[in-house]
Amino acid sequence: MIELTDVRKVFPARRRAGEVVAVDGVSLRVQAGEFAGVVGPSGSGKSTLVRLVNLLERPTSGSVTVDGQVLTDLPDDRVREARRAIGMVFQHFELLDSRTAAGNVEHPLELAGVGRAERRRRATDLLDLVGLGERAEARPAQLSGGQKQRVAIARALAARPKVLLCDEATSALDQASTASVLELLRRVRSELGLTVLLITHEMAVVKAVCDSAVLLERGRVVDGGRLSEVLTRGHSPLADALLPAPV
Ligand code: ATP
Ligand code: MG
Repeated sequence: MIELTDVRKVFPARRRAGEVVAVDGVSLRVQAGEFAGVVGPSGSGKSTLVRLVNLLERPTSGSVTVDGQVLTDLPDDRVREARRAIGMVFQHFELLDSRTAAGNVEHPLELAGVGRAERRRRATDLLDLVGLGERAEARPAQLSGGQKQRVAIARALAARPKVLLCDEATSALDQASTASVLELLRRVRSELGLTVLLITHEMAVVKAVCDSAVLLERGRVVDGGRLSEVLTRGHSPLADALLPAPV
């Protein structure tokens, strides 16, 4: 469903800073319906990697295939179209403050030219799905962090994507909101048959929701596997990262 082959992203040198190899030859395959995690220290290239999947960043080299379509072979206008099949949620929600919850969910549909009645209908259904049917007319400032992320998830699902990308989607939330957002992500994954790629620096998040994970260090995948295997195989870079060291 998601396949990266030897993907590199090099940011060119700017003034005092030299060039940065943010992603350095990553190959990765996420099966349809899988909930996959990417973990790694700050600066290891996680956000760049997730932005390469929907081509918000064009790779310097290598190929990106999503749902059988080789995105890296497409011209920019076709990429914009293909990107609609890929939802994304962010750490700081990125909602439009001037719009209601429903208005935020409708926004991508407006951009896609979906008619007003259909937009309303889909926004209502999606807000019900994420448990915010009652708050459709609330503005982001009137919602809690967890509620804002639910609106952002509803918005990410508006164009009926097959893939959902989550970049630190729970990192700005407290424990209770984190648990309920993760529960929601698992539920929409099964109800809608989504493929989810979740980036986090929180190991507990990976253990709570992911079927598989990779460990990224300095732009490279240094370990990976199915969570059930990783956690039982004893020492490995990913197992050591996921399991707290004994004291
Ligand atoms: P964090 O956990 O702190 O969010 P990350 O793993 O998401 O970190 P990235 O944001 O992908 O890491 O950054 C990887 C490297 O690429 C860093 O050295 C960063 O400074 C650099 N980088 C990211 N975006 C750009 C950019 N637009 N221009 C130049 N360098 C960039
Ligand atoms: Mg990041």
